[in-house]
Amino acid sequence: FVKDRGRSHYRFYQKEMNTTFPDEALMESHLRRAVELNELTVHYQPQVDLKTGQISSFEALLRWNNRKFGFVSPAQFIPIAEDSGLIHGIGDWVLEQVCIQLKEWQEKQFKPVRIAVNISPKQFQMESFSYNLRSKIAHHGIAPSSLELEITESALTNMNETLKTINELKKIGVYISVDDFGTGYSSLSYLKQYPIDIIKIDRSFIKDIEVDEKNEAIAKTIINLAHNLGMTVVAEGVEKDLQAQILLEANCQKAQGFLYSKAVPVDEIVEKYIE
Ligand code: C2E
Ligand code: MG
Ligand code: MG
Ligand code: MG
Repeated sequence: FVKDRGRSHYRFYQKEMNTTFPDEALMESHLRRAVELNELTVHYQPQVDLKTGQISSFEALLRWNNRKFGFVSPAQFIPIAEDSGLIHGIGDWVLEQVCIQLKEWQEKQFKPVRIAVNISPKQFQMESFSYNLRSKIAHHGIAPSSLELEITESALTNMNETLKTINELKKIGVYISVDDFGTGYSSLSYLKQYPIDIIKIDRSFIKDIEVDEKNEAIAKTIINLAHNLGMTVVAEGVEKDLQAQILLEANCQKAQGFLYSKAVPVDEIVEKYIE
């Protein structure tokens, strides 16, 4: 039974990954029209509080169903979007969708939740980024604390602009997390420089944590590091009960992964978690 489930998940991801776009230029030209053709949707993956089992935050993950070539994985099209500059429009669209969603739930008086949005380094480094975000939040009238921005280490450069942007974002009142922590090439000095709220341990350190002693050591060290700096920790890619147990014992607060749920359409999130 468990095996069956595993297999269907596998098939699902195979289907998503194997796009038949013959080349990147063609993908780019289709991506250029994806927003206007309504080919993009935002799915949501729950984040679970390891101690209580409660779910009050979700990560927004972009999905692209191209009319000609079918599902394309963000791992494939986000880099194209970044190189072509399309990420600005697409990223803005994602933020807009998430704000609309939060506003709707707020009006229906559903339980308060937080949504984490992936922000590409290019988007983040635009001078207008924090100003635009502030206007969006004001325009939709949502609580700034219901938004979290996921930034990768590569966006956290040593430049004055980065500090300025992050300080502005903290003033607005959104949460800041570092995504895929431990996989970038940057030094740890940004952790003391910038007011970061959350560290997301990269999936590669969680995978096999129950058998790989080095991964276990790295994950535990990241958890302690985060806590010593007053930050919250989220483990990415938790697929097994035993992994969740190890993380709970190590005082990791939150987990995200197929053990709980993959990213699902918004209706399912509403039905299962917040209505
Ligand atoms: P990410 O931000 O690190 O997101 C987590 C990825 O891990 C997601 O892949 C999610 O579906 C997958 N995942 C979650 N739990 C598990 C698990 O237990 N096992 C495994 N094997 N995988 C798991 P997805 O949705 O394919 O996204 C891939 C990447 O694309 C994201 O990595 C993020 O960097 C980027 N991305 C997705 N949506 C957006 C977006 O709206 N904007 C930007 N800039 N990037 C996005
Ligand atoms: Mg992320
Ligand atoms: Mg990640
Ligand atoms: Mg990532």
